[in-house]
Amino acid sequence: MSFQLIDGKEIAKQVRNELKAEVNRLREHGLVPGLAVILVGNHPASESYVRGKIRASEEVGIHSELIRLSETAREEELLAEVQRLNRDPNIHGILVQLPLPAHMDPARVIAVIDPAKDVDGFTPLNTGNMMIGQDALKPCTPVGIIELLKRADISVAGKHVVVVGRSNIVGKPVSILLQQENATVTMCHSRTKDLAYHTRQADILVAAVGRAEMITADHVKEGVVVIDVGVNRREDGKLVGDVRFDEVAPLASAITPVPGGVGPMTIAMLLANTVTAAKRIHGLD
Ligand code: NDP
Repeated sequence: MSFQLIDGKEIAKQVRNELKAEVNRLREHGLVPGLAVILVGNHPASESYVRGKIRASEEVGIHSELIRLSETAREEELLAEVQRLNRDPNIHGILVQLPLPAHMDPARVIAVIDPAKDVDGFTPLNTGNMMIGQDALKPCTPVGIIELLKRADISVAGKHVVVVGRSNIVGKPVSILLQQENATVTMCHSRTKDLAYHTRQADILVAAVGRAEMITADHVKEGVVVIDVGVNRREDGKLVGDVRFDEVAPLASAITPVPGGVGPMTIAMLLANTVTAAKRIHGLD
C-alpha cells in the first residue's frame, strides 16, 4: 500500500507564513505580539526546544524574550518572574518550559500564569474552558495534531480514533479535541489490557507514549492513519517516534514522520496562540 507522508515541517511552514502576514498587519497598527519563555536550569533537550521556539517567534515577527533562572533558583523566584511578566504590557504569551527541577511544583507555577497569557494552554481555567467547548487558549501539541489532520485533508468525524497516552499535555487534551471534532475516541494507557487489540480497531491512531518504536505492525490495521507524537532517542542515538515507521508505514494510508511531523506543528501553534492572545488582550479578536 502506498501511504501519504504527512509533512508536518511543510504544513507548519504554511502556518508560520500565514502568521507572519498577520503579525505584519498587527505591527502596522502598532501591536507587536510578545512571547516570554522562562527556562529554569539547562536541561539539554529543553535548551534545544526553547531555542527553536525563540527562533520561530522571531521569524514571524513576534517579539521574544528568554528568561533564564538557575537550576537552584527557589520556586518563589520563578513565581515572582511569572507575576512580573503577567504585568508586562509588551508580553502577551508566557511559557514556562517543562520539566522544572524536582524542588518546584509545576502545577503551582502554571496556576500563577495569567490565563489570558497562557499560550501553552495549561492553566486550570483554559483547560476547563477547552473541556466544555468554550473559548480557550488550547495546548499546542493537541491543537497542532487537529490542524495537521485538517490541512492534510484527513476527516475525523465519525472515525474511531485510538489515543495511546493520557498525559495532561498530550493524550488527555487531544482526546477531548478529537471528540469535539466528532470522532469516537478510545483512550489507552499503561494499564490498558491487550493494547494491540484496541489499537487494531483504530481508523486513526495517535501515539503519545514516549517509548521508542513500541507501536509495531501487529498494533495496526491496514489503511490506518498514524499520528506519532513520541520523540525518543534510540540507543544508537537516532531520534525516533513511538511508532516503528518502517513496519507500520506500508500498512498505513497516512503517517507522520519523526522528526518532521507533530513537532514543528507544536511550535507553530505556540506562535498562533501568542498572536491570538495579543489580539484578545488588545480587543482585536
Ligand atoms: P507522559 O510520560 O506524561 O505520558 C505518557 C503516557 O503514556 C502515559 O499516559 C502513560 O500511561 C502511557 N504509557 C506509558 N507506557 C505505556 C505502555 N506500555 N502502553 C500504553 N501506554 C503507556 O508523556 P507525554 O504525554 O508528555 O509525551 C509523550 C511523548 O510525546 C514523549 O515522547 C514526548 O517527548 C513526546 N512529546 C512530543 C511533543 C511534540 O511536539 N512532538 C510535545 C509533547 C510531548 P499512564 O498514564 O498509565 O502512566
